[in-house]
Amino acid sequence: MLSIQSFCFNPFQENTYIIFNQEGEAILVDPGMYYPNEFEAYDAFIRTHNLKPTKIINTHTHLDHVFGVAKTIGAYQIPFYFHEADKPVYDAANVFGEMYGLKFDQLPKTPDAYIKEGEEITLGTDKLEVFLTPGHSPGSICLYHAAANWVISGDVLFQMSIGRSDLPGGDHQTLLQSIRTKLFTLPPETAVHSGHGPVTTIGLEMMNNPFLQ
Ligand SMILES: [Zn+2]
Ligand SMILES: [Zn+2]
Repeated sequence: MLSIQSFCFNPFQENTYIIFNQEGEAILVDPGMYYPNEFEAYDAFIRTHNLKPTKIINTHTHLDHVFGVAKTIGAYQIPFYFHEADKPVYDAANVFGEMYGLKFDQLPKTPDAYIKEGEEITLGTDKLEVFLTPGHSPGSICLYHAAANWVISGDVLFQMSIGRSDLPGGDHQTLLQSIRTKLFTLPPETAVHSGHGPVTTIGLEMMNNPFLQ
């Protein structure tokens, strides 16, 4: 069974995750650290738990989720993946950074490979399922770990809220459809680890999320 550790980083209060197994193999999700002390805290967690990062996977590539990608690749020399439909969003990330006055390290031109829907990501003997859940961004994915009953939902679903759909490539109806067909079909007790804000569950959001009643 995989463990999950969260960090809250950068001026957008983005949740960065580390997923790891009992052998210490780790997948780094959405490395959003911006300030040097944020990277230090992240790296300290990895070192004190003797983790061996194996890859970076992004739920999507808005700037608040990619601020720390270049630094993370540099530090751990590991491959970087996201869904191909997010490539236009990825290509615009550094430009958006300049617009916000938040410059960050130049991203690699392309990822090492693209993640596909339905792909099974393995970490040792553990598995993560990939759901394509567009609407917030065209290539947003969620990572589901059935064995421990949790899903990383990126900026698709939040506690009592949903992702923005007014950014380039976003679409409100597509987002609602993604949540209803890919997330609300999971067991109600599934923990939802979002790209921003606290942990919630599928059941709580089905009952209470004002955007989905
Ligand atoms: Zn986003
Ligand atoms: Zn975000």
